[in-house]
Amino acid sequence: RLAQITPGFSGADLANIVNEAALLAVRRDSDAVAMADLEMAIERVVAGLQRKMPLSPEVRRKVAYHEGGHALVAQLLPGTDPIHKVTIIPRGRALGLTMQLPIDEKYTHSKQYLLNNISILYGGWVAEKVIFGEITTGAGNDIERASELARKMVCEWGMSDELGPLAYGKKEEQIFLGREIAQHRDYSEETARKIDEVVKKIILDATEATTTLLEENIEVLKAVADELLDKETITLEDIDRIIEELKKDTAKEAASESKNAPVQE
Ligand code: ZN
Repeated sequence: RLAQITPGFSGADLANIVNEAALLAVRRDSDAVAMADLEMAIERVVAGLQRKMPLSPEVRRKVAYHEGGHALVAQLLPGTDPIHKVTIIPRGRALGLTMQLPIDEKYTHSKQYLLNNISILYGGWVAEKVIFGEITTGAGNDIERASELARKMVCEWGMSDELGPLAYGKKEEQIFLGREIAQHRDYSEETARKIDEVVKKIILDATEATTTLLEENIEVLKAVADELLDKETITLEDIDRIIEELKKDTAKEAASESKNAPVQE
């Protein structure tokens, strides 16, 4: 289980985690390091320290829907990395966090996997828009990461039919400036415009599909956000349970409706 939740970690990262876990165990007066210590240490190393920061009820609600949006999109789309934990406890610079865990160590990604990841990144933004009709600055980092992914798909990984399997923009390591990497434009103004268009289309298609997905599952989204507001941290099992319960309710409703139908006539 530990190996599964620490893919791509270096030896130094793992040593750091074990140290951190030992400190946590000592702090709770235990003479042994437990799995819970290790899990908390991993979260600390991955996401930063938990912050004691009281959020206003409105902000908490927005964060719950934002994280709920990420989690639900990840859960509903096929072939995505499973959710490990969703939390609205502020950590590092983030007000909330949705952690996914890869099933295996992926060294390459398919186009569909990347498109799904763009949708997951927009899950928070879309949820805020669908529920509150307005958006906050909370999605800034998501938007940045999604835009970067979309641009790489087009300019580095040859994943757009319009621009073909070419690399656009030569990278050059500038030794004098440390390890800064400078992008050199090696294409025309017209190509630049085309790249912008294609990247924008990838993003707009993803946000549109994500909006439809969350609107169709708005009851689940509300239930997930409520559960988050109640428990602060939820897992994949909680989300699965919510989806199952809502399915049962709808089935029951449908059954009682069909029973009542002749009477209502
Ligand atoms: Zn987000």
